[in-house]
Amino acid sequence: ERTPLIAGNWKMNLDHLQAIAFVQKLSWALKDVKHDFGDVEVAVFPPFTDLRSVQTLLAADKLALTLGAQDVSPQQAGAFTGDVSAAMLAKLEVKYVLVGHSERRHGHGESNETVGEKARAAQAAGMVPVICVGETSEDLEAHGAAAIPLAQMQAAITQLPANAEFVIAYEPVWAIGSGQAATPEQAEEVARALREALRDLRGDDRAAATRILYGGSVASQNIAAFMRQPNVDGALVGGASLKVDEFSRIVQFKK
Ligand code: 13P
Repeated sequence: ERTPLIAGNWKMNLDHLQAIAFVQKLSWALKDVKHDFGDVEVAVFPPFTDLRSVQTLLAADKLALTLGAQDVSPQQAGAFTGDVSAAMLAKLEVKYVLVGHSERRHGHGESNETVGEKARAAQAAGMVPVICVGETSEDLEAHGAAAIPLAQMQAAITQLPANAEFVIAYEPVWAIGSGQAATPEQAEEVARALREALRDLRGDDRAAATRILYGGSVASQNIAAFMRQPNVDGALVGGASLKVDEFSRIVQFKK
């Protein structure tokens, strides 16, 4: 059985002081609901400048949240101004690293190859890459929903060793920040196609163990319907992850 993963991608929001206050409030909100919280993994993905502060807080207060980073350099070390290496993130007890978010693919021109190299760098440093895939509305019209996500997933995971653990986040670009989420059936259709492809690429066991998340305008009103889909194992939440009450309601989804 796959443990559901609810991941909050803060994007470029909250400085390190705001981050500390936010994580404290979130953990208080979630403490009251331990019975539901137990079987869900909750992760936060703050900006790089917040990671050290959040890591210190999680460790000091033994909070049951996991830490993720929003990006990583494909390079190991050296003359790469502005980049942050996988080794630096691993040292901060970062467990997950987002690679290939559409805001990186489209805003920073990241190719499938670069995304795969980033996944590989994160994996080699002992972290779990969260490989983001998703079609634009033009892709959807031209190729249907699944073709682009499948190609993006395949390109990235071919750069990972055969036994590597990874998470897939299916985020249709048209659903991100638009308030127009995919329907649960649309999300399930693509998640199912991704899992079928994983069977061919990585075998039955890895396909069965890999968590596939949905992202794009997830909110407390729609999370349960996504989580009822057999191939959707969690959510990657943007805007709604920045509100303590709303994010804690999402974490407490009831199927
Ligand atoms: P929203 O939840 O704001 O649509 O963002 C989704 C996303 O891009 C998460 O990575």
